[in-house]
Amino acid sequence: MKKLIAANWKMNKTVPEAVSAAKELKLLIKNSKNAEVAVCPPFTALEAVGKELEKTKIKLGAQNMHFEDSGAYTGDISPLMLKGIGCEYVILGHSERREFFKEDDVLINKKVMSALKNKLTPILCVGETLEQRSSSKAREVIDKQLRNCLDKVNAKQMQNVVIAYEPVWAISRGISNTKPATKEDAEEMHKFIREFLGNIFDSATAKNARIIYGGSVKPENAEELLSMPNINGALVGNASLNAKSFAEIVKAAEN
Ligand code: PEP
Repeated sequence: MKKLIAANWKMNKTVPEAVSAAKELKLLIKNSKNAEVAVCPPFTALEAVGKELEKTKIKLGAQNMHFEDSGAYTGDISPLMLKGIGCEYVILGHSERREFFKEDDVLINKKVMSALKNKLTPILCVGETLEQRSSSKAREVIDKQLRNCLDKVNAKQMQNVVIAYEPVWAISRGISNTKPATKEDAEEMHKFIREFLGNIFDSATAKNARIIYGGSVKPENAEELLSMPNINGALVGNASLNAKSFAEIVKAAEN
């Protein structure tokens, strides 16, 4: 399975800045064969970045969406709109959406179902807080998030879902000296997620599931995290804002 390296630019980059980053990135990774790369700019830059990435293998993704195809939802963006401008991926249930916009598992599940219906691949984020980890509740939290967010998803649909394990305590929130989970801790949780998928779906679905890691991935630590058997890629925030450092992470996934 090719590793998926996805850039989450969050609420950063104006349209010209986003286009220029995409231009730089496509040159830097033009020879990359063994990794799948996706870029998730803010909504305003999706179309322009999509045009810049035309005829490349770099895929386009959004950072959120509404679950309805259209309607009276002021300020929101629908899956049809994303599909219409060439998005293939959509990040759902990011911890920042859960924390700052009070998104819960029920809402995230509606979005997952809607993404699948509209042939968008959800990158479903799950992760525990530091407090939950310190009180040995990490597995319980991930189990509940996955159970709720994947409610009504069947094994066939699961082939088109990416799970991003993003421990909330490891996410940099724009600060560059934060530490990721150790490769052992990340691997342990990824293995747990794969076993969970084996239990609710079947062993083939679990084996083929893409489970990517997110939280302070940088060029310095990408290779060791990506070398772990159950880590199938990375969701990269801060380090993806710079095309060169993101390209180095993509190179680490090629090995
Ligand atoms: C994220 O928020 O999805 C993320 C992985 O952020 P960072 O890489 O900055 O920790």
